[in-house]
Amino acid sequence: MMLEHLPARVSVYEVGPRDGLQNEARALSVEDRLRLLGALAAAGETRIEAGSFVSPRWIPQLADTDALIRRLDLGGPVSYSALVPNRQGLERALACGIREVAVFLSASESHSQKNLRRSVAEALATYRDLVPAATAAGLRVRGYVSVVWGCPYEGAVPVARVVDIAQALVEMGVYELSLGDTIGVGTPRQTEAILRALLDRIPAGKLAVHLHDTRGTALANALAALGCGIATIDASVGGLGGCPYAPGASGNLATEDLVYMLHGMGIETGIDLGKLVAAGELAQALIGRPLHGKVLQAASGERIRKSQGGADA
Ligand code: MG
Repeated sequence: MMLEHLPARVSVYEVGPRDGLQNEARALSVEDRLRLLGALAAAGETRIEAGSFVSPRWIPQLADTDALIRRLDLGGPVSYSALVPNRQGLERALACGIREVAVFLSASESHSQKNLRRSVAEALATYRDLVPAATAAGLRVRGYVSVVWGCPYEGAVPVARVVDIAQALVEMGVYELSLGDTIGVGTPRQTEAILRALLDRIPAGKLAVHLHDTRGTALANALAALGCGIATIDASVGGLGGCPYAPGASGNLATEDLVYMLHGMGIETGIDLGKLVAAGELAQALIGRPLHGKVLQAASGERIRKSQGGADA
């Protein structure tokens, strides 16, 4: 991989307030979620997934997404998005005035049945109506495909299957497709192989990666994706979200870790890392547990050391 051919600027897509919070045990109030969104916007984040219109029966942490969205500045510099699983979700999205929504499906049949309670074909059939309806109503629609790098039930997922699903979503009208390493099993050569297969059919500008750091490979995979020309990367403030399959383990790639690496390489994001760390500290305080983001931990450690007047070892 040639490090000199990386994109000059990366668009960071923040998933903490949705993907992060929906996997946390503690549910935050609308007020606290607004505080977190405010801190992320203040750090210069401009693409933030704020909630979900999945039934609160399935995701109680994100109940009241309607009320939350109504309190956001939807005409400002930040583009907010929310998950929409079906027509009912789309009606809720349209009623509260949000401009962007996201649809989601699995690349494996078992994961789809167990986590989304429908088959891949059923999900595709739903979206075949939903995505054009949303775009006709003026919404931008993002698509997620999960377990692309591996499935917790089936293991390896054939790349050809991912390509078929991805193409179907793009043909329906999604403006961007986010490929998820949902259980954090990916490694860089695999990342390159998956992306090369997709890039034969779909332009790089329509692809994003959603990497998990469960086994410490998220940044390495992000770098491999950058090397393939991918310039949109999902991340979660502080690494909010954990891993639903392994309590205490890392899940989402932490936004500060991604931004630290990118800025260190001279790649712009438009994000203020210091303010992003402050948002991570707020997330940590709100959720009531330390978050696993490395840059966040390093910044907190440094602050403690300075406050105690300690010298470097
Ligand atoms: Mg995730």
